[in-house]
Amino acid sequence: MRWSWKIGRLAGINVYMHATFLLLILFIVFVNYANGRSLATTFVGVVFVLVIFACIVLHELGHALTARKFGVQTRDIILLPIGGVARLERMPEKPREELWVAIAGPLVNVVIAAVLLAILVATGFHPHWRDFRWAGGNFLEKLMVVNLWLVGFNILPAFPMDGGRVLRALLATRMEYTRATQMAAHIGQGMALIFGFVGLFSDPFLLFIALFVWMGAEAEASMALMRTSLEGIPVQQVMLTDFKTLQPDEPLSTAIDHALGGWQQDFPVVFGDHVLGVLTREDLMRVLAQGGAEARVRDAMRREFQTVDSHDMLEHALAVLHSCHCRSLPVQHDGRLVGMLNADNVGHFMMVQSALRRKKALAAQKASSNGEASRHNGGFFY
Ligand SMILES: [Zn+2]
Repeated sequence: MRWSWKIGRLAGINVYMHATFLLLILFIVFVNYANGRSLATTFVGVVFVLVIFACIVLHELGHALTARKFGVQTRDIILLPIGGVARLERMPEKPREELWVAIAGPLVNVVIAAVLLAILVATGFHPHWRDFRWAGGNFLEKLMVVNLWLVGFNILPAFPMDGGRVLRALLATRMEYTRATQMAAHIGQGMALIFGFVGLFSDPFLLFIALFVWMGAEAEASMALMRTSLEGIPVQQVMLTDFKTLQPDEPLSTAIDHALGGWQQDFPVVFGDHVLGVLTREDLMRVLAQGGAEARVRDAMRREFQTVDSHDMLEHALAVLHSCHCRSLPVQHDGRLVGMLNADNVGHFMMVQSALRRKKALAAQKASSNGEASRHNGGFFY
């Protein structure tokens, strides 16, 4: 992830801190300063936050090490101001394994809280459950409460929280994986609506959580859909074969005619059936503004572009689309232009696939229970 610094390595896993994390520290310093607190108090406040994040690293490590037990490696752990993220290379294969990986994180916080309680009791300090307060108060007691809060928050049955994955794993033992994900995502979004509604009338922080949960649920559902939709499908099955091309010497006005008269936004620029470049809508607009409609296609096209082969797997093609941040790709075979792959079109294709699959969900159950994880996205977040 960009804007992250490596802060250490634990059990062979690199731990990164995101730059925005510093904002959190600055915020605490600022709040303490604005309230006229002493330097010592401010320092304790900062240390407290750092210790909380150490607990979060242990939580992520719980996920990562449990995943490793099932043969799944973790790319890295990233600390964000809203919590931690462990990026697993893929999902564990069996629902039962996913359940363990998901629940291992919150279990770590249960253990930490239990140890802190034991220390507190052993040193003769009894937690003030009733008149608990954040300002002042016992450091260990506050830390215990934070860990319990982390447990409660994480076991909410909503993506992207651990509880959402536990729910999905439980559902996946009874139904097809994609359907289990969609159902869990719907439950998550239902909860997000409730959070948001309650947040409107009470704590604005809940609104923030609602948004976070809503987006997490959406991302998870589409990721799972992709994972089962893309297996074993070659590019040529999805690519468009009816599209317009441009010649390098044509004026941009030709491109405008094509663009206004059809669906296409990007045009391959060809000599014969050999691709020389790609003219995207953005390049077209930029050069139109500078040189007018009489400028040549060759002056506006981009010469650095990616292509895929029609025999490539769709999963690979999507990874290329994703990494070049482009909307479409020329598809070649034996050095000849044979089609265009368009991100929207792939989306439509997957929707059709998912509708068809729902029909034969039962038949697919066996095939998808050993589903391979897709590798084209940034990993699976915990
Ligand atoms: Zn977790």
